[in-house]
Amino acid sequence: MGPKSSELFAKVGVSTIEDLFYYVPRAYTDWTNVADVGSLRISDCVTVVARVISCDVLRRGRMQIFTAALEDDTGTILARWFGRRYIQRVLEPGTRVAVSGEVRFSRFARRIEFVNPSFEVIGEDDVAEGRIEPQYSQIASLSGGRIRGIVRTAIDGFLDQIVDPLPESVLGSRELPGLRESVADVHFPPSLERAARARSRLAYEELFMFQVLVALKKRQLARSGGAVQIVWRDDEHARFTGSLRFELTRAQRRVIGEIAGDLGRGEPMNRLLQGDVGSGKTAVAASAMHQAVASGHQAAIMAPTEILAEQHFENLTALLSPLGDRVVLLRGGMKAGEREEALGLIGSGEAQIVVGTHALIQERTNFSDLALAVVDEQHRFGVVQRAALRAKGSAPHILVMTATPIPRTLALTVYGDLDVSVLDEMPPGREKVVTAVRDEAARGKVYDFLKSEVASGRQIFIVYPLVEESEKMELAAATKMYEQLKEQTFTEATVGLVHGRMKPEEKDAVMDGFKAGTTDILVSTTVVEVGVDVPNATVMVIEHAERFGLAQLHQLRGRVGRGDQQSYCILMVGRGASDEARERIQVLADTNDGFVIAEKDLEMRGPGEFLGVRQHGLPRFSVADLGSDSRLLVQARDDAFAYVAGDPDMSTPAGALLLDATKRRFRGRGAFMDVG
Ligand code: ADP
Ligand code: MG
Repeated sequence: MGPKSSELFAKVGVSTIEDLFYYVPRAYTDWTNVADVGSLRISDCVTVVARVISCDVLRRGRMQIFTAALEDDTGTILARWFGRRYIQRVLEPGTRVAVSGEVRFSRFARRIEFVNPSFEVIGEDDVAEGRIEPQYSQIASLSGGRIRGIVRTAIDGFLDQIVDPLPESVLGSRELPGLRESVADVHFPPSLERAARARSRLAYEELFMFQVLVALKKRQLARSGGAVQIVWRDDEHARFTGSLRFELTRAQRRVIGEIAGDLGRGEPMNRLLQGDVGSGKTAVAASAMHQAVASGHQAAIMAPTEILAEQHFENLTALLSPLGDRVVLLRGGMKAGEREEALGLIGSGEAQIVVGTHALIQERTNFSDLALAVVDEQHRFGVVQRAALRAKGSAPHILVMTATPIPRTLALTVYGDLDVSVLDEMPPGREKVVTAVRDEAARGKVYDFLKSEVASGRQIFIVYPLVEESEKMELAAATKMYEQLKEQTFTEATVGLVHGRMKPEEKDAVMDGFKAGTTDILVSTTVVEVGVDVPNATVMVIEHAERFGLAQLHQLRGRVGRGDQQSYCILMVGRGASDEARERIQVLADTNDGFVIAEKDLEMRGPGEFLGVRQHGLPRFSVADLGSDSRLLVQARDDAFAYVAGDPDMSTPAGALLLDATKRRFRGRGAFMDVG
């Protein structure tokens, strides 16, 4: 290709012929199965060649729905696309398109339609009767035909020069097709089945390679050695459990045992603790921190928000200072004097347990002897922060805790270098939070219910979503709502407002009022998302619930049901919410199982949004899809770990070839690239 095209390809990460081979189509136009619009029946999977006769864009909240009416000589059909903004720029009345997908019946429009079909804009004479044509993601101004031509040329000229990076053993045991066949089939498949098989092999290869990096990384961490050996002391643990207000659950005891095993080895622990909201992760962390102190070292716990750090500080002080451990708080909003004092205590080692926010990993914070670092609510931190924390000690043990149950596929990729413990049991006596989805029509009734709860002495959270791009507007809406609630609706109750733009002191004052019970109703933006523990709060109302991810809603719901009263979660859906959005939210009313919810959330939103952070350490996969390739991922992981165990230095010819290809493949795609 010419320099102009090659520049455009480079922008999408394709700069070699090998890259081009792995630039797989996002869909296919099946010209072997073309039908007339007039002959379509429900559930046909076909391609129609038609002209756009009209277009329409509908907005539902943040979701955009694009509808096009399509016509050929035999009839018309609707095609609808959800949330794909680029389509608006591509389709307009008069455009000729080939649309492929399943024909469905719309109960709403009372006619047949395509929903999110694949499509391709085509010229007047552009038909490829009898072939299956690849459709690639748009690359700037390059036409689909041009991209196809370039790929075709590359395959014709160079396919026989590529070498399969997968070890023979793996190819054999998984019965995978060879690389050359797969590349040819994925771009120009003789059938859709062959295309799927080829894609699956290439996805497997990508996941396998990634897991090879993970396995190598894990070995490297383990071999770095030099960790402080913390020999578990049963007498100290007995003192610890003696000061708890409750018996540890069986799951807590099991996980504590796993951690004790890790701490006693000379290698640094790297463990992920997953446990649903309220499963009691703090007590587990506290037991390990106490052991670190008992063996003469420092421990730290890092929380994502100031409110949560402070809460940990209070809880850990109450729990551990009676045992003689000195607990110190370090957070961003401290006065200079206070901060200097805290930093001094941390540097001298007088601070045995340090609780903090990101301030813990800032340059100025120096520990005297950090042996155990706990990271709470991991989904806010990425690999980068984990590494920064690790650098605060010499090979400290690391325990990462998360309340967002992480679907297995993500756990195995983002946290693939960690060992995993799960708290799969709730402390006894927890009532299930009753969850209901309500709309505007029910608002009056909802308020009556809230009034009756307040009258019987309970407290209430009302949460507003903050959407990043329109934070100001949303904040104005939350503030206005707050004023209305305070002055008109809940005249008998005390209402407080807390949001992210407040100064820390103001925030603290409001939170303190709520914790102390002097405030009945706390209106907030999502700052309550993580951690606050107010057992007397029994109702969580979430406004515009459709704008939240399911995992996030589940987290918010976890703020209630912490005491012994029956608690409620009311999910208010806004006027513009679509049926799809309601259905999505309904999942929360149907289950309390965080893992089920997380899997659904991942399915619906994809991994990037699910994690909701920029620095999540997730590589960009070009073929594999973490949402739908979970079975492949588990296989790839098993195979990769087994392979690395047998060839730990990747020094056999097959290993060297594989490592080389892997590094080439993940260059510039983040995650674990410091290996080898
Ligand atoms: P999370 O896992 O969400 O961080 P916490 O550690 O904050 O949960 O625990 C939630 C609540 O449950 C706290 O009030 C804590 O004191 C209490 N708790 C923890 N473990 C137990 C237990 N084994 N029995 C009874 N209550 C417990
Ligand atoms: Mg917690």
